[in-house]
Amino acid sequence: MADAHAAGQTILVVGGGISGLTTAVEAAETGYNVLLVEKDPQLGGRVAQHNKYFPKLCSPVCGLEINFQRIKNNPRIRYLTLSEVEEIQGSEGNYTVRIRKNPRFVTEACTGCGDCAAVCTTEVADPFNFGLNKVKAIRNNHAMAFPSWYYMDPAYAKTDEAKQVAKICPAGAIQPDMEASVIEEQVAAVVWATGWKPYDAEKILPYGFGQYANVTTNMRFERLASVYGPTGGKIIRPSDGKEAKSVAFIQCAGSRDHNYLPFCSRVCCLASMKQATYVRDQYPDSKVTVFYIDLRAMDRYESFLQKTREDANISWIKSKPARIEEDANGNPVVIGENTLTGERYAMPFDLVVLATGMEPHSAVDAKVPSDQASHDEYGFVTGGVLAAGCAAAPTDVASSVQSATAMAMKAIHAAVKRG
Ligand SMILES: Cc1cc2nc3c(=O)[nH]c(=O)nc-3n(C[C@H](O)[C@H](O)[C@H](O)COP(=O)(O)OP(=O)(O)OC[C@H]3O[C@@H](n4cnc5c(N)ncnc54)[C@H](O)[C@@H]3O)c2cc1C
Repeated sequence: MADAHAAGQTILVVGGGISGLTTAVEAAETGYNVLLVEKDPQLGGRVAQHNKYFPKLCSPVCGLEINFQRIKNNPRIRYLTLSEVEEIQGSEGNYTVRIRKNPRFVTEACTGCGDCAAVCTTEVADPFNFGLNKVKAIRNNHAMAFPSWYYMDPAYAKTDEAKQVAKICPAGAIQPDMEASVIEEQVAAVVWATGWKPYDAEKILPYGFGQYANVTTNMRFERLASVYGPTGGKIIRPSDGKEAKSVAFIQCAGSRDHNYLPFCSRVCCLASMKQATYVRDQYPDSKVTVFYIDLRAMDRYESFLQKTREDANISWIKSKPARIEEDANGNPVVIGENTLTGERYAMPFDLVVLATGMEPHSAVDAKVPSDQASHDEYGFVTGGVLAAGCAAAPTDVASSVQSATAMAMKAIHAAVKRG
């Protein structure tokens, strides 16, 4: 029955993280055409930046890889990377969408051999690793990235060297003259899966992020612990490369606070517990201290929390630290008062990780009709607009996947109604 309605019906999915991937494969496997639009060079969203998944502590690459295979094998899904929706016109069942495709400067003919990166002499701060290291101006994010074709920084594409590098590509895939283009598509329904971005820790002035090298954030810590990250997975201090064996996590850094992000992002406690295991697994003689207001482990994740609490080398201090200072050895010193004992503390660590929360992308930057333009006070998509995963609210991967599947069904329903 779906196929009868599906003829000519396309569902637009904006955002290629785990939620957008899920909506895309669920809708396509039901018989609908899907156009998946992602602004970054590769699919996977934030999950691709995680080192491990809680609660099982497996690699996120596995979960993503299954979806990449389903996309590769399904001719109903078209995906565009480095692309953004500029404008949507029309109404449910009959939208016209204008999409801007930014140049990648490398075509699908790329085999990923890496000859170009080997001769490229220009390095740039690596956005995938939050600028923690430098990478070649023509590159791939990591060995498992999808699509696996390389891409080139736009500024580098204009250089003479880029033209020389293009000549050595055995597949003839490099095109420094590639230009942006705008395409128009007809779609029956739109699902926003634009996800989240980390809260800007520099706004939390008392914690000195950006000022003290050894104060980092939870997402940077994911990259620090990853074998594809800036240190090949070695957890060391950015200031001097010393092994970080004494690590503090500050929960609700900038969250549940009307000066910053007023809401709870639901996953930060679990993320810190997961990250505590990165430290403990890497250095058996390490000590971890978690500063918390209260610990939030949703539903079945409670057992994950309890398991972490069984480790005697992880200490828990109920307190929202007042500030961080730096001592003469470059150690960040966490200062505050223990809420349970009333004791004041000033504790030095090798590294402090701020558990910062999740903000929505300004999902609907594009010009959209009124039926696509509903947001709550924080910018999460709401109302009758179809939103999957963290575009609608901060949450974990399992809940994102559930909501993404539901959104595929709602999008199909919208297409069937008008089809
Ligand atoms: C420190 C930390 C650790 C975490 N660890 C875990 C964990 O171990 N287990 C777990 O279950 N959850 C974890 N999470 C939560 C997890 O990251 C989210 O559940 C997941 O990323 C949600 O996926 P998403 O697709 O909704 O959003 P995203 O991953 O943010 O993907 C959104 C995609 O949309 C793209 N996009 C954005 N705007 C546009 C636009 N205008 N046009 C086109 N594309 C756009 C983005 O580039 C991105 O690719 C963690 C969160 C944090 C903060």
